Amino acid sequence: MMTHQMKIAVFDDYRLGVINGLHVCDISGLVEDRWRGHPLAINRLIECWGEVRDQAVRLARTAKPKRLDEVRLLPPVPQPRQLLAAPLNYHQHITEMGSSPHVPGGLPAEQTSREMGFFVKASGSICGPSDAIELPSWQGRVFHHECELGVVIGRTARATTRPHAREHVFGYTCLIDVTMRMNQEFQEERPMRKSFETFTPIGPWIVTADEVPDPNGLSIRLWVNDELRQDDSTARMIVGVDELIQRASAVVTLHPGDVYATGTPAGVGPIGPGDRVRIWIERVGEFTIPVRQRDW
Ligand code: MN
Repeated sequence: MMTHQMKIAVFDDYRLGVINGLHVCDISGLVEDRWRGHPLAINRLIECWGEVRDQAVRLARTAKPKRLDEVRLLPPVPQPRQLLAAPLNYHQHITEMGSSPHVPGGLPAEQTSREMGFFVKASGSICGPSDAIELPSWQGRVFHHECELGVVIGRTARATTRPHAREHVFGYTCLIDVTMRMNQEFQEERPMRKSFETFTPIGPWIVTADEVPDPNGLSIRLWVNDELRQDDSTARMIVGVDELIQRASAVVTLHPGDVYATGTPAGVGPIGPGDRVRIWIERVGEFTIPVRQRDW
């Protein structure tokens, strides 16, 4: 079977596009008019992808492209209905957090995949590759980067089995799970530490699942300025993509466009205003995003 280069982006006023090298072809016409210019247009495109995919391929070859540097890339899913995240999904990250002053009392000694679930981030924390990570000026807290493979759900998934889980994946995106860490004094803030606005940059686009034969074997890296901070492979996830979906779908129905942050490898560390954070994932893409102080 011939596979098509398929990277789906959202740009300018929520237009839908297929990336073609340094260009983007507008495929907004593939969803009904009422979705035009709507932040949920991509969710609708994903929902009807089975019917419009071939048209998208055709349009990508024939539509007049725009230069990528002349559009503004938005988060590839500006408004997922749910933004789920895996905690502690790489052993070496568990080790580094176990000795962190930000986790008083340490982590359970027998932290295994059998004990893991998911947590939710506010979907309002999503931002895109053209935005900035904005840190609140709360004193006495630090803010960490976590580079993660983001899974974008395609077909609705409820109580799916592990062998069928992958059929519910639309594609993959780069995701930074920005996290506030705090000492004992502020522990009551833990539940909201990952949900600040702009704390989930995703992008630069979604690479469709058929381009990524094995999401559990991708190199993943993150730099702050020019310093390589995280460098690992999704092969070292404790719970792989299929099982994450199987487990989550046993708890709640997953919908087209939902985003799942699959956990971060070791090497998390502080970011501050003026820094530039770059994330790269093999086969998926990369983007660089500045960090600034929030002005509200
Ligand atoms: Mn994380």
